[in-house]
Amino acid sequence: MVSIILTRNTIGRLRPCEHLLARFRAAVPAGIRQRSTFVGLREAPKQAAAGPKAVPSLSTLAAALRLDKLNSSSQRVPQLAAPKSAVVEEMLRQVAEGAEEPFYVVDIGAALDRLSLWRELLPEVEPFYAVKCCPDPSLLYALAQAGMGFDCASKGEMEQMFQLGVGPERILYANPCKQPSHLKYAARQRVPLAVVDSEDELRKHAELYPEGEVLVRIAVDDSQAQCVMSCKYGAPMASTGRLLRRAIELGVRVRGVSFHVGSGCYSAQSFVDAVDRGSAVFDEAALLGLKLDILDIGGGFPGSDDGKLSFTDIAVPLRHALHRQFPASRGVRLIAEPGRFIAEQTHTLAVNIIGKKVVQPAEGGDGSTMYFVNDGLYGSFNSVLYDHASPTAELLAPGTAATDDLLPASIWGPTCDGLDCVVKETRLPDMQVGSWLFFERMGAYTAAAGSNFNGMPLPEKVYLHAVDSSDDDAGAAVSYYESGEHVRMAAAA
Ligand code: PLP
Repeated sequence: MVSIILTRNTIGRLRPCEHLLARFRAAVPAGIRQRSTFVGLREAPKQAAAGPKAVPSLSTLAAALRLDKLNSSSQRVPQLAAPKSAVVEEMLRQVAEGAEEPFYVVDIGAALDRLSLWRELLPEVEPFYAVKCCPDPSLLYALAQAGMGFDCASKGEMEQMFQLGVGPERILYANPCKQPSHLKYAARQRVPLAVVDSEDELRKHAELYPEGEVLVRIAVDDSQAQCVMSCKYGAPMASTGRLLRRAIELGVRVRGVSFHVGSGCYSAQSFVDAVDRGSAVFDEAALLGLKLDILDIGGGFPGSDDGKLSFTDIAVPLRHALHRQFPASRGVRLIAEPGRFIAEQTHTLAVNIIGKKVVQPAEGGDGSTMYFVNDGLYGSFNSVLYDHASPTAELLAPGTAATDDLLPASIWGPTCDGLDCVVKETRLPDMQVGSWLFFERMGAYTAAAGSNFNGMPLPEKVYLHAVDSSDDDAGAAVSYYESGEHVRMAAAA
Protein backbone atom coordinates (compact mmCIF):
# COMPACT_ATOMS: atom_id res chain seq x y z
CA MET A 1 0.00 0.00 0.00
CA VAL A 2 1.17 3.49 -0.69
CA SER A 3 0.37 5.84 2.06
CA ILE A 4 2.32 9.06 2.16
CA ILE A 5 3.09 11.96 -0.03
CA LEU A 6 4.61 15.11 1.33
CA THR A 7 5.44 17.50 -1.36
CA ARG A 8 7.34 20.61 -2.12
CA ASN A 9 8.88 21.51 -5.39
CA THR A 10 11.36 24.17 -6.31
CA ILE A 11 11.80 26.99 -3.85
CA GLY A 12 9.06 29.52 -4.33
CA ARG A 13 6.85 27.38 -6.53
CA LEU A 14 4.14 25.12 -5.30
CA ARG A 15 2.69 22.58 -7.60
CA PRO A 16 -1.05 22.09 -8.02
CA CYS A 17 -2.34 18.94 -6.41
CA GLU A 18 -3.84 17.57 -9.61
CA HIS A 19 -0.48 17.69 -11.21
CA LEU A 20 1.02 15.75 -8.35
CA LEU A 21 -1.69 13.17 -8.41
CA ALA A 22 -1.01 12.60 -12.07
CA ARG A 23 2.66 12.17 -11.33
CA PHE A 24 1.88 9.82 -8.49
CA ARG A 25 -0.21 7.69 -10.80
CA ALA A 26 2.47 7.71 -13.42
CA ALA A 27 5.24 6.89 -10.98
CA VAL A 28 3.69 4.04 -9.05
CA PRO A 29 3.18 0.86 -11.03
CA ALA A 30 -0.49 0.09 -11.56
CA GLY A 31 -0.32 -3.27 -9.79
CA ILE A 32 0.86 -1.65 -6.65
CA ARG A 33 -1.43 1.33 -7.08
CA GLN A 34 -4.51 -0.85 -7.12
CA ARG A 35 -3.63 -2.10 -3.70
CA SER A 36 -2.69 1.39 -2.55
CA THR A 37 -4.33 3.73 -0.17
CA PHE A 38 -3.58 7.15 -1.44
CA VAL A 39 -4.22 9.15 1.67
CA GLY A 40 -3.57 12.61 0.41
CA LEU A 41 -0.98 15.14 -0.35
CA ARG A 42 -0.01 18.50 0.82
CA GLU A 43 1.88 21.54 -0.21
CA ALA A 44 4.50 22.26 2.39
CA PRO A 45 4.78 25.87 3.47
CA LYS A 46 7.30 28.25 2.03
CA GLN A 47 9.48 29.81 4.72
CA ALA A 48 8.99 33.55 4.78
CA ALA A 49 12.26 35.44 4.69
CA ALA A 50 10.96 38.24 6.85
CA GLY A 51 12.64 37.44 10.11
CA PRO A 52 13.84 34.81 12.51
CA LYS A 53 10.39 34.35 13.96
CA ALA A 54 8.73 34.04 10.56
CA VAL A 55 6.55 30.95 10.50
CA PRO A 56 5.37 29.55 7.20
CA SER A 57 1.69 30.00 6.59
CA LEU A 58 -0.24 27.23 8.23
CA SER A 59 -2.99 27.55 5.69
CA THR A 60 -0.75 25.62 3.33
CA LEU A 61 -0.96 22.70 5.69
CA ALA A 62 -4.47 22.10 4.45
CA ALA A 63 -5.82 19.05 6.04
CA ALA A 64 -5.04 16.71 3.21
CA LEU A 65 -2.34 14.45 4.57
CA ARG A 66 -3.19 11.53 6.81
CA LEU A 67 -0.39 9.32 7.97
CA ASP A 68 -2.71 6.56 9.07
CA LYS A 69 -0.16 3.85 8.68
CA LEU A 70 2.07 5.38 11.33
CA ASN A 71 -0.54 5.67 14.02
CA SER A 72 -0.26 2.15 15.20
CA SER A 73 2.60 1.79 17.62
CA SER A 74 2.77 -1.93 17.05
CA GLN A 75 3.61 -1.52 13.39
CA ARG A 76 7.21 -0.93 12.38
CA VAL A 77 7.00 1.32 9.38
CA PRO A 78 9.63 0.53 6.81
CA GLN A 79 12.38 2.91 5.88
CA LEU A 80 10.92 6.27 4.96
CA ALA A 81 14.05 8.44 4.94
CA ALA A 82 15.45 9.48 1.60
CA PRO A 83 18.95 8.15 0.88
CA LYS A 84 21.75 10.67 0.79
CA SER A 85 21.90 10.37 -2.99
CA ALA A 86 18.32 11.72 -3.28
CA VAL A 87 19.12 14.66 -1.02
CA VAL A 88 22.26 15.46 -3.00
CA GLU A 89 20.34 15.18 -6.23
CA GLU A 90 17.77 17.66 -4.98
CA MET A 91 20.49 20.11 -3.93
CA LEU A 92 22.16 19.84 -7.33
CA ARG A 93 18.85 20.46 -8.99
CA GLN A 94 18.27 23.60 -6.96
CA VAL A 95 21.73 24.83 -7.89
CA ALA A 96 21.17 24.04 -11.55
CA GLU A 97 17.96 26.08 -11.38
CA GLY A 98 19.95 29.09 -10.25
CA ALA A 99 19.84 29.00 -6.44
CA GLU A 100 22.17 31.44 -4.75
CA GLU A 101 20.75 31.78 -1.23
CA PRO A 102 21.40 29.01 1.29
CA PHE A 103 18.66 26.41 1.52
CA TYR A 104 17.65 23.33 3.44
CA VAL A 105 16.51 20.08 1.94
CA VAL A 106 14.02 18.68 4.44
CA ASP A 107 13.19 15.01 4.65
CA ILE A 108 10.28 14.39 7.02
CA GLY A 109 10.62 10.67 6.40
CA ALA A 110 13.84 10.72 8.41
CA ALA A 111 11.88 11.83 11.49
CA LEU A 112 9.22 9.20 10.95
CA ASP A 113 11.90 6.53 10.79
CA ARG A 114 13.25 7.73 14.12
CA LEU A 115 9.78 7.55 15.61
CA SER A 116 9.47 3.97 14.37
CA LEU A 117 12.83 3.13 15.93
CA TRP A 118 11.70 4.65 19.21
CA ARG A 119 8.51 2.63 19.18
CA GLU A 120 10.47 -0.50 18.46
CA LEU A 121 13.12 -0.08 21.17
CA LEU A 122 11.18 1.76 23.88
CA PRO A 123 7.61 0.64 23.20
CA GLU A 124 6.38 1.36 26.71
CA VAL A 125 7.51 4.99 26.61
CA GLU A 126 5.24 7.56 24.92
CA PRO A 127 7.34 10.24 23.24
CA PHE A 128 6.34 13.92 23.44
CA TYR A 129 8.41 15.69 20.79
CA ALA A 130 10.25 18.76 22.17
CA VAL A 131 8.94 21.43 19.80
CA LYS A 132 11.77 23.88 20.53
CA CYS A 133 14.27 21.59 18.84
CA CYS A 134 12.86 22.18 15.36
CA PRO A 135 9.43 23.78 15.12
CA ASP A 136 9.11 23.19 11.38
CA PRO A 137 5.33 23.08 10.76
CA SER A 138 5.55 20.21 8.28
CA LEU A 139 7.56 18.16 10.74
CA LEU A 140 5.16 18.96 13.59
CA TYR A 141 2.20 18.12 11.41
CA ALA A 142 3.61 14.77 10.36
CA LEU A 143 4.53 13.88 13.96
CA ALA A 144 1.06 14.89 15.11
CA GLN A 145 -0.51 12.71 12.48
CA ALA A 146 1.77 9.89 13.53
CA GLY A 147 0.31 10.05 17.03
CA MET A 148 3.05 11.79 18.98
CA GLY A 149 2.57 14.08 21.94
CA PHE A 150 4.37 17.42 22.25
CA ASP A 151 6.55 19.01 24.88
CA CYS A 152 5.88 22.76 24.70
CA ALA A 153 7.92 25.44 26.41
CA SER A 154 5.63 28.43 25.96
CA LYS A 155 2.28 29.78 24.93
CA GLY A 156 3.63 30.23 21.39
CA GLU A 157 4.51 26.55 21.05
CA MET A 158 1.17 25.47 22.48
CA GLU A 159 -0.65 27.76 20.05
CA GLN A 160 1.33 26.30 17.17
CA MET A 161 0.26 22.80 18.13
CA PHE A 162 -3.40 23.76 18.58
CA GLN A 163 -3.36 25.32 15.10
CA LEU A 164 -2.21 21.96 13.78
CA GLY A 165 -5.19 20.28 15.37
CA VAL A 166 -3.43 18.72 18.36
CA GLY A 167 -5.62 18.51 21.45
CA PRO A 168 -4.50 19.73 24.89
CA GLU A 169 -4.30 16.18 26.23
CA ARG A 170 -1.35 15.58 23.90
CA ILE A 171 0.59 18.56 25.23
CA LEU A 172 2.99 18.58 28.13
CA TYR A 173 3.92 22.07 29.36
CA ALA A 174 7.46 21.07 30.24
CA ASN A 175 9.08 24.41 31.02
CA PRO A 176 9.76 24.33 34.77
CA CYS A 177 9.57 28.13 34.97
CA LYS A 178 6.53 29.59 33.22
CA GLN A 179 5.55 33.13 32.46
CA PRO A 180 2.32 33.65 34.43
CA SER A 181 0.28 34.69 31.38
CA HIS A 182 1.46 31.54 29.57
CA LEU A 183 0.35 29.39 32.48
CA LYS A 184 -3.02 31.14 32.46
CA TYR A 185 -3.25 30.32 28.75
CA ALA A 186 -2.49 26.66 29.53
CA ALA A 187 -5.23 26.77 32.17
CA ARG A 188 -7.76 28.23 29.70
CA GLN A 189 -6.85 25.56 27.16
CA ARG A 190 -6.98 22.81 29.81
CA VAL A 191 -3.47 21.54 29.15
CA PRO A 192 -3.50 18.84 31.78
CA LEU A 193 0.11 18.40 32.78
CA ALA A 194 3.05 20.73 33.48
CA VAL A 195 6.47 20.50 35.07
CA VAL A 196 7.66 22.29 38.22
CA ASP A 197 10.89 22.20 40.20
CA SER A 198 10.48 24.73 43.01
CA GLU A 199 8.13 25.89 45.74
CA ASP A 200 7.64 29.21 43.95
CA GLU A 201 6.50 27.47 40.79
CA LEU A 202 4.12 25.32 42.85
CA ARG A 203 2.69 28.50 44.35
CA LYS A 204 2.26 29.94 40.84
CA HIS A 205 0.33 26.84 39.84
CA ALA A 206 -1.81 26.92 42.98
CA GLU A 207 -2.77 30.50 42.20
CA LEU A 208 -3.16 30.42 38.39
CA TYR A 209 -4.10 26.84 37.54
CA PRO A 210 -5.12 24.97 40.71
CA GLU A 211 -6.84 22.20 38.73
CA GLY A 212 -3.71 21.52 36.67
CA GLU A 213 -1.52 18.57 37.55
CA VAL A 214 2.25 18.60 37.76
CA LEU A 215 5.40 16.52 37.49
CA VAL A 216 8.29 17.39 39.79
CA ARG A 217 11.49 17.70 37.81
CA ILE A 218 14.52 16.42 39.68
CA ALA A 219 18.16 17.29 39.11
CA VAL A 220 20.19 14.42 37.67
CA ASP A 221 23.75 13.89 36.51
CA ASP A 222 24.13 15.73 33.20
CA SER A 223 27.93 15.71 33.14
CA GLN A 224 28.02 13.39 30.11
CA ALA A 225 25.90 15.66 27.92
CA GLN A 226 26.72 18.12 25.17
CA CYS A 227 24.43 20.73 26.77
CA VAL A 228 23.94 20.76 30.53
CA MET A 229 20.64 21.65 32.21
CA SER A 230 20.81 20.70 35.85
CA CYS A 231 22.57 24.01 36.61
CA LYS A 232 19.28 25.68 35.88
CA TYR A 233 16.51 23.16 36.36
CA GLY A 234 15.69 20.22 38.57
CA ALA A 235 15.03 20.02 42.30
CA PRO A 236 17.95 18.57 44.27
CA MET A 237 17.11 15.17 45.72
CA ALA A 238 17.46 16.58 49.24
CA SER A 239 14.56 18.96 48.57
CA THR A 240 11.98 16.67 46.98
CA GLY A 241 10.31 15.66 50.27
CA ARG A 242 9.80 19.29 51.17
CA LEU A 243 8.43 20.04 47.68
CA LEU A 244 5.95 17.19 47.83
CA ARG A 245 4.72 18.30 51.26
CA ARG A 246 4.35 21.86 50.00
CA ALA A 247 2.31 20.62 47.04
CA ILE A 248 -0.04 18.81 49.43
CA GLU A 249 -0.43 21.97 51.52
CA LEU A 250 -1.12 24.08 48.41
CA GLY A 251 -3.55 21.56 46.96
CA VAL A 252 -1.53 21.03 43.78
CA ARG A 253 -1.85 17.47 42.50
CA VAL A 254 1.57 15.91 41.81
CA ARG A 255 1.28 13.11 39.27
CA GLY A 256 4.90 12.11 38.96
CA VAL A 257 8.52 12.87 38.33
CA SER A 258 10.50 14.16 35.36
CA PHE A 259 14.19 14.57 34.60
CA HIS A 260 16.48 15.55 31.75
CA VAL A 261 19.99 14.09 31.58
CA GLY A 262 21.20 16.97 29.37
CA SER A 263 20.88 17.34 25.63
CA GLY A 264 23.11 15.09 23.57
CA CYS A 265 23.83 12.66 26.38
CA TYR A 266 26.42 10.03 25.58
CA SER A 267 26.08 7.86 28.64
CA ALA A 268 23.48 5.15 29.11
CA GLN A 269 24.40 5.13 32.79
CA SER A 270 23.13 8.71 33.18
CA PHE A 271 19.67 7.54 32.10
CA VAL A 272 19.79 4.47 34.35
CA ASP A 273 20.88 6.51 37.38
CA ALA A 274 18.15 9.05 36.69
CA VAL A 275 15.50 6.30 36.60
CA ASP A 276 16.75 5.10 39.98
CA ARG A 277 16.47 8.62 41.36
CA GLY A 278 12.99 8.96 39.94
CA SER A 279 11.95 5.74 41.62
CA ALA A 280 13.28 6.98 44.96
CA VAL A 281 10.99 10.02 44.69
CA PHE A 282 8.03 7.73 43.97
CA ASP A 283 8.86 5.88 47.21
CA GLU A 284 9.22 9.13 49.11
CA ALA A 285 5.83 10.29 47.84
CA ALA A 286 4.21 6.99 48.86
CA LEU A 287 5.36 7.59 52.45
CA LEU A 288 3.50 10.91 52.30
CA GLY A 289 0.38 9.20 51.04
CA LEU A 290 0.79 10.34 47.43
CA LYS A 291 0.37 7.77 44.68
CA LEU A 292 2.45 8.98 41.74
CA ASP A 293 1.75 7.41 38.37
CA ILE A 294 3.80 9.20 35.67
CA LEU A 295 7.54 9.06 35.02
CA ASP A 296 8.91 11.42 32.37
CA ILE A 297 12.41 10.43 31.26
CA GLY A 298 13.01 13.69 29.35
CA GLY A 299 15.20 14.13 26.29
CA GLY A 300 18.92 13.79 25.68
CA PHE A 301 18.82 10.93 23.17
CA PRO A 302 21.34 11.08 20.31
CA GLY A 303 20.25 12.41 16.93
CA SER A 304 22.04 9.76 14.94
CA ASP A 305 23.78 6.48 15.47
CA ASP A 306 27.23 7.31 14.22
CA GLY A 307 28.11 9.38 17.27
CA LYS A 308 29.78 8.15 20.42
CA LEU A 309 26.79 6.08 21.50
CA SER A 310 23.85 4.75 19.51
CA PHE A 311 20.22 4.88 20.52
CA THR A 312 20.26 1.11 20.97
CA ASP A 313 23.20 1.45 23.38
CA ILE A 314 21.01 3.69 25.51
CA ALA A 315 17.59 2.12 24.96
CA VAL A 316 18.54 -1.41 25.99
CA PRO A 317 19.89 -0.63 29.49
CA LEU A 318 17.32 2.13 29.94
CA ARG A 319 14.44 -0.23 29.19
CA HIS A 320 15.95 -2.74 31.58
CA ALA A 321 16.12 -0.08 34.30
CA LEU A 322 12.53 0.94 33.61
CA HIS A 323 11.36 -2.67 33.86
CA ARG A 324 13.28 -3.10 37.11
CA GLN A 325 12.03 0.07 38.82
CA PHE A 326 8.69 0.51 37.11
CA PRO A 327 7.30 -2.91 36.22
CA ALA A 328 3.84 -2.88 34.64
CA SER A 329 2.40 -3.94 38.00
CA ARG A 330 3.38 -0.53 39.42
CA GLY A 331 0.86 1.10 37.07
CA VAL A 332 3.11 3.96 36.03
CA ARG A 333 2.72 5.71 32.69
CA LEU A 334 6.11 6.28 31.06
CA ILE A 335 6.65 9.32 28.85
CA ALA A 336 9.66 11.15 27.34
CA GLU A 337 10.55 14.43 25.61
CA PRO A 338 12.92 13.62 22.73
CA GLY A 339 13.93 16.51 20.45
CA ARG A 340 17.30 15.95 18.78
CA PHE A 341 16.57 12.24 18.43
CA ILE A 342 13.65 13.00 16.11
CA ALA A 343 14.76 16.11 14.24
CA GLU A 344 18.51 15.98 13.68
CA GLN A 345 18.53 14.00 10.46
CA THR A 346 15.63 15.80 8.80
CA HIS A 347 17.56 18.81 7.51
CA THR A 348 20.54 19.09 5.17
CA LEU A 349 21.88 22.61 4.66
CA ALA A 350 23.42 23.81 1.40
CA VAL A 351 25.52 27.00 1.51
CA ASN A 352 27.07 28.97 -1.29
CA ILE A 353 30.67 30.14 -1.20
CA ILE A 354 30.31 33.91 -1.61
CA GLY A 355 33.94 34.86 -1.13
CA LYS A 356 37.42 33.54 -0.41
CA LYS A 357 40.68 34.94 0.85
CA VAL A 358 44.09 33.29 0.94
CA VAL A 359 46.05 34.14 4.04
CA GLN A 360 49.77 33.59 4.51
CA PRO A 361 51.09 33.37 8.06
CA ALA A 362 53.53 36.24 8.80
CA GLU A 363 56.16 33.76 10.00
CA GLY A 364 56.02 31.73 6.79
CA GLY A 365 54.74 28.20 6.35
CA ASP A 366 51.63 26.96 4.61
CA GLY A 367 48.94 29.42 3.69
CA SER A 368 45.28 28.78 4.36
CA THR A 369 42.11 29.73 2.53
CA MET A 370 39.24 31.45 4.28
CA TYR A 371 35.93 30.58 2.59
CA PHE A 372 32.96 32.84 3.25
CA VAL A 373 29.55 31.19 2.97
CA ASN A 374 26.05 32.65 3.17
CA ASP A 375 24.87 31.12 6.45
CA GLY A 376 26.77 31.41 9.69
CA LEU A 377 26.80 31.60 13.46
CA TYR A 378 23.98 34.13 13.55
CA GLY A 379 21.85 31.88 11.35
CA SER A 380 21.69 28.10 11.27
CA PHE A 381 25.14 27.64 12.75
CA ASN A 382 24.16 29.24 16.05
CA SER A 383 24.36 25.55 16.96
CA VAL A 384 28.15 25.95 17.11
CA LEU A 385 27.72 28.33 20.04
CA TYR A 386 24.54 27.15 21.73
CA ASP A 387 24.61 23.45 20.96
CA HIS A 388 28.38 22.92 20.94
CA ALA A 389 28.06 21.50 17.43
CA SER A 390 31.03 20.74 15.18
CA PRO A 391 29.61 20.88 11.65
CA THR A 392 31.28 18.90 8.90
CA ALA A 393 31.33 20.40 5.41
CA GLU A 394 31.01 18.32 2.26
CA LEU A 395 31.46 19.47 -1.34
CA LEU A 396 28.20 19.54 -3.21
CA ALA A 397 29.78 18.67 -6.52
CA PRO A 398 33.05 16.86 -5.87
CA GLY A 399 35.33 17.02 -8.83
CA THR A 400 34.54 20.65 -9.60
CA ALA A 401 37.54 21.97 -7.67
CA ALA A 402 40.68 22.83 -9.64
CA THR A 403 42.54 19.98 -7.95
CA ASP A 404 41.55 17.27 -5.52
CA ASP A 405 44.37 18.17 -3.15
CA LEU A 406 43.05 18.97 0.29
CA LEU A 407 44.42 22.27 1.52
CA PRO A 408 44.19 24.02 4.89
CA ALA A 409 40.98 26.02 5.05
CA SER A 410 38.46 27.65 7.35
CA ILE A 411 34.77 28.43 6.77
CA TRP A 412 33.21 31.74 7.82
CA GLY A 413 29.67 33.06 7.98
CA PRO A 414 28.41 36.11 6.06
CA THR A 415 28.11 38.70 8.84
CA CYS A 416 30.75 41.34 9.61
CA ASP A 417 31.50 39.83 13.03
CA GLY A 418 34.88 38.14 13.51
CA LEU A 419 33.17 35.64 15.80
CA ASP A 420 31.20 34.33 12.83
CA CYS A 421 33.39 31.31 12.04
CA VAL A 422 31.62 28.05 11.19
CA VAL A 423 34.65 25.74 10.94
CA LYS A 424 37.96 27.00 12.28
CA GLU A 425 40.22 24.41 10.74
CA THR A 426 39.54 21.94 8.00
CA ARG A 427 40.95 20.80 4.69
CA LEU A 428 39.18 21.47 1.41
CA PRO A 429 40.19 21.36 -2.24
CA ASP A 430 40.67 24.72 -3.92
CA MET A 431 37.09 25.97 -4.29
CA GLN A 432 35.82 28.88 -6.31
CA VAL A 433 33.29 31.58 -5.41
CA GLY A 434 29.89 30.25 -6.42
CA SER A 435 30.70 26.65 -5.41
CA TRP A 436 28.50 24.92 -2.85
CA LEU A 437 29.11 23.10 0.41
CA PHE A 438 26.57 21.12 2.37
CA PHE A 439 26.13 20.01 5.95
CA GLU A 440 24.09 16.96 6.95
CA ARG A 441 22.16 16.48 10.18
CA MET A 442 21.25 20.13 10.60
CA GLY A 443 17.72 19.59 11.91
CA ALA A 444 18.21 20.01 15.65
CA TYR A 445 18.74 23.38 17.34
CA THR A 446 19.77 25.20 14.15
CA ALA A 447 17.31 27.48 12.33
CA ALA A 448 15.09 27.32 15.44
CA ALA A 449 17.41 29.78 17.17
CA GLY A 450 18.80 31.61 14.13
CA SER A 451 18.53 35.36 13.52
CA ASN A 452 18.62 37.78 10.60
CA PHE A 453 21.64 39.65 11.99
CA ASN A 454 23.26 41.83 9.29
CA GLY A 455 20.10 41.44 7.22
CA MET A 456 20.94 37.87 6.27
CA PRO A 457 17.86 35.71 5.65
CA LEU A 458 17.54 32.31 7.22
CA PRO A 459 17.66 29.54 4.60
CA GLU A 460 14.53 28.63 2.72
CA LYS A 461 13.41 25.03 2.66
CA VAL A 462 12.84 22.45 -0.03
CA TYR A 463 10.78 19.52 1.18
CA LEU A 464 11.49 16.09 -0.21
CA HIS A 465 8.69 13.67 -0.50
CA ALA A 466 8.57 11.37 2.37
CA VAL A 467 9.19 8.02 0.85
CA ASP A 468 6.60 5.39 0.83
CA SER A 469 7.85 1.91 1.20
CA SER A 470 5.37 -0.64 2.37
CA ASP A 471 4.96 -4.29 1.85
CA ASP A 472 2.09 -5.31 -0.34
CA ASP A 473 0.60 -8.75 -0.76
CA ALA A 474 3.33 -9.85 -3.12
CA GLY A 475 6.06 -8.61 -0.82
CA ALA A 476 6.78 -5.76 -3.17
CA ALA A 477 8.08 -2.48 -1.91
CA VAL A 478 8.09 0.83 -3.61
CA SER A 479 10.04 3.89 -2.68
CA TYR A 480 10.15 7.02 -4.66
CA TYR A 481 11.01 10.65 -4.43
CA GLU A 482 9.82 13.56 -6.36
CA SER A 483 11.91 16.64 -6.78
CA GLY A 484 10.67 19.39 -9.02
CA GLU A 485 9.91 18.17 -12.49
CA HIS A 486 11.67 14.91 -11.99
CA VAL A 487 9.98 11.77 -10.71
CA ARG A 488 12.14 8.80 -10.19
CA MET A 489 11.67 5.35 -8.77
CA ALA A 490 14.42 4.94 -6.23
CA ALA A 491 13.52 1.35 -5.58
CA ALA A 492 10.75 -0.58 -7.13
CA ALA A 493 9.40 -4.04 -6.80
N1 PLP B 1 12.68 18.73 27.31
C1 PLP B 1 13.13 19.90 27.78
C2 PLP B 1 12.46 20.48 28.99
C3 PLP B 1 14.19 20.56 27.17
O1 PLP B 1 14.61 21.72 27.66
C4 PLP B 1 14.78 19.98 26.02
C5 PLP B 1 15.88 20.63 25.34
O2 PLP B 1 16.27 21.73 25.62
C6 PLP B 1 14.26 18.77 25.54
C7 PLP B 1 13.23 18.16 26.22
C8 PLP B 1 14.81 18.10 24.32
O3 PLP B 1 16.06 17.61 24.56
P1 PLP B 1 16.81 16.75 23.44
O4 PLP B 1 16.79 17.52 22.18
O5 PLP B 1 18.18 16.57 23.98
O6 PLP B 1 16.11 15.46 23.32
